[in-house]
Amino acid sequence: MNDPQVLAQDLTVVLGDATRVLTAPAVVERLSKDFYWYSPVLRPALEAKRGDVVAQPGSVDEVRAVLRYCYRHDVPVTARGAGTGNYGQAIPLCGGVVLDLSRMDGIEEITRDGVAVCEPGVRLGVLEAAAREKGWELRCYPSTIVKATVGGFLGGGSGGIGSVAHGGLRDFGTVRGLEVVTMEDDPQVHLREGEAVHEILHAWGTNGIITKIWLALAPKVEWAQTAVAFDSFAAAFDFSEQIAGDAAWTKRLVTAFEWPIPRYFSPVKRICPEGKHLIFFMIAAEQIEELRTAAEKATGTVTYSGTYSGLKTIPLLSDYTWNHTTLWAIKHDDAYTYLQCGFDPARVREQLQVLRGRFGDEILFHMEFMKNGQGKVIPGAIPLVRFTTEERLKEMIHCCRENGVFVANPHVNNVEDGGRYREDHEQLRAKRRYDPKGLLNPGKMPSFEPEGAEVAGSR
Ligand SMILES: Cc1cc2nc3c(=O)[nH]c(=O)nc-3n(C[C@H](O)[C@H](O)[C@H](O)COP(=O)(O)OP(=O)(O)OC[C@H]3O[C@@H](n4cnc5c(N)ncnc54)[C@H](O)[C@@H]3O)c2cc1C
Repeated sequence: MNDPQVLAQDLTVVLGDATRVLTAPAVVERLSKDFYWYSPVLRPALEAKRGDVVAQPGSVDEVRAVLRYCYRHDVPVTARGAGTGNYGQAIPLCGGVVLDLSRMDGIEEITRDGVAVCEPGVRLGVLEAAAREKGWELRCYPSTIVKATVGGFLGGGSGGIGSVAHGGLRDFGTVRGLEVVTMEDDPQVHLREGEAVHEILHAWGTNGIITKIWLALAPKVEWAQTAVAFDSFAAAFDFSEQIAGDAAWTKRLVTAFEWPIPRYFSPVKRICPEGKHLIFFMIAAEQIEELRTAAEKATGTVTYSGTYSGLKTIPLLSDYTWNHTTLWAIKHDDAYTYLQCGFDPARVREQLQVLRGRFGDEILFHMEFMKNGQGKVIPGAIPLVRFTTEERLKEMIHCCRENGVFVANPHVNNVEDGGRYREDHEQLRAKRRYDPKGLLNPGKMPSFEPEGAEVAGSR
């Protein structure tokens, strides 16, 4: 039963507020979409998909009330933060309710020992500012920090700026705890702490709605930004790897770009000399001069150096890193798309060479460094890819995997195939417990089976 009119009328009664039940087609369309169009494979597959109605709960009780109604009427529910996800994570495949959590944006507390306690709709940039006022900062954040929400980051993100020092979102107990609302006849609020958070993280809202979060922070650092240019990508990569892997440097961002990627960074053209391969750094302000000396010794030329005074700093170098790099390239030429790779630190040069040899400039290297769960800094990459056919893209992914390069495939629209699904099936098991009818973001966890069926690998 997805008659939008009936749904809207009923939800207005449920929320007691018609202004928080949105039905205007353009609004529903906008709030049903994310950045799925980064993928030329997902673009045609998802462009016609949308929800029927948007509901905007303001409290956990209202989330429960909406879910109770939807459970009883078999209406699908797709959670939404800011809709900056890349793989159509927040796009409803079966209509129903888009549950827009952006009004649940309270920060309850930044504790004395550095834990942010907040609601899911808080924008990461707002949380970062609140944390810094108390002497703390986010351990890691996506380059969409200004728009993206904490709940959306937990539901669909993985890491970003800060990950070179603190690992990904799912590492080192960064998510201390969360409360999740179940999709049942009488929706429950479960507190998940410690290892138990992993059943919900990166599950794309398929197995519960996160309504409260305890996020561990890092002590605040006074940061500076630097751009360094090199004549060869090999020299740029060597220097980026040296700084990223050396614990003596306090850093938040180390990103290496192969030319011509920097050509696409129009607003900062003056710091991107023609033909040069670049590294963008966020480094402790007190180390900035030392970094300049080290860069020059490594044959680099500093093209920019400045203080960082928050997200309004101009230029904000992080705006060109992580998956923003892809956005600048697509703006320039929409034949570009991307992959998400993890290289073997011992073989990375050889692996890059294999890809270059096989695909030439169909692939352009954009490297990001990330501390893994064992504390080792590893070279990751979000390489740009010139798209021709889906077959060619698959060939590239296959070639990566054959050569020991991990790929989290951004051209699929389900949790299992995206590369961050837990092999212990924790997310799937949680879905069976918390969403027995399979009404939460249906279609995004295809290995889910109806209640009563045996879960693969569960015994
Ligand atoms: C230009 C660009 C750069 C990016 N850079 C990065 C990056 O550096 N690192 C990175 O990890 N990602 C990156 N992303 C992806 C995305 O921005 C992040 O993952 C972001 O944190 C998503 O937040 P959001 O609020 O927009 O989530 P949404 O897109 O709204 O939602 C993401 C997923 O989480 C689910 N969800 C939302 N809220 C809840 C909730 N309360 N409970 C349960 N599930 C929920 C949704 O259903 C959806 O499946 C980038 C995307 C773009 C377009």
